[in-house]
Amino acid sequence: MFDHKSIVQEIKTPFVLKSGVRVFMQRDDQIHPFISGNKWFKLKHNIRDFLTSEATSIMTFGGAYSNHLVATAAACAMQQIPCMGMVRGDELQPNSNYVLRLCSEFGMKLKFISRQGYSEAKRNPSEFENKKVFVIPEGGDNAAGILGCQDIVKDYTLFDHVAVPVGTATTFSGIINGSKGESHIQGFAALKNASYLSETVSGNTSYNNWTLQTSYSYGGFGHFDESQSKFNRQFASETGILLDPVYTGKMMRGVYALISENVIKPVESVLCIHTGGLTGLLSEKWLNS
Ligand SMILES: *Cc1c(COP(=O)(O)O)cnc(C)c1O
Repeated sequence: MFDHKSIVQEIKTPFVLKSGVRVFMQRDDQIHPFISGNKWFKLKHNIRDFLTSEATSIMTFGGAYSNHLVATAAACAMQQIPCMGMVRGDELQPNSNYVLRLCSEFGMKLKFISRQGYSEAKRNPSEFENKKVFVIPEGGDNAAGILGCQDIVKDYTLFDHVAVPVGTATTFSGIINGSKGESHIQGFAALKNASYLSETVSGNTSYNNWTLQTSYSYGGFGHFDESQSKFNRQFASETGILLDPVYTGKMMRGVYALISENVIKPVESVLCIHTGGLTGLLSEKWLNS
């Protein structure tokens, strides 16, 4: 099930052409409409581990707009694996938004828990694990998730920089491990005050060819203003590539900023990973931005 082909295309917007930097984008948003981008890689070894365990169902965790929840629901449906999603917020219902609706559509059972209950469960997800239930933590953030992300980039020697958005840093860590020290891996934190994630990354990898960029969250996680929608719109109209509001839109703005600041220099090349998440374009918040 987890075979795929990665498409890499060159980005030739007026800004990029003028800069002299060669910018490429790996279109992992095209891997699957709902198991998009990095979620595909984070799930593949988790599902393999489930299949070799004695468990009969999968349980995972996510917020009301979690791309990971939908991806898990779709992946489980493809393998006919019963699955349950533990959702943050006991005021929610299966029809509260398009993300939860999609999860139900794929047959995921949803359980809504209070914010406090959720943060306790999130800290210790293995408490929910037993012989029958295989637990994947929130965001697919575990060793199997990191391992899968080592396969995202095929050849690091072709690029001076690799750019990737950062949430839990599972994907970033996997890409660094896969690089084996080649190229420079630039992680763009989607969260404010994310420097604590450096420690997480250091614990996940023994390579030093990376920088966690913490100044390009543009208002913080899930926040965006007119300047973000303007940027994403311009990028889409110049390339035909849609960016999502939460992760890839901010990463690309960050890449442009690093080019402007001469951190990524003329004649250098950068591979930007499109991690998907395009259902985020349907959120009310984005529609109103
Ligand atoms: C989940 C997600 C991320 C964050 O990945 P992490 O491994 O948690 O850092 C990035 N981009 C998109 C589109 C996502 O859905």
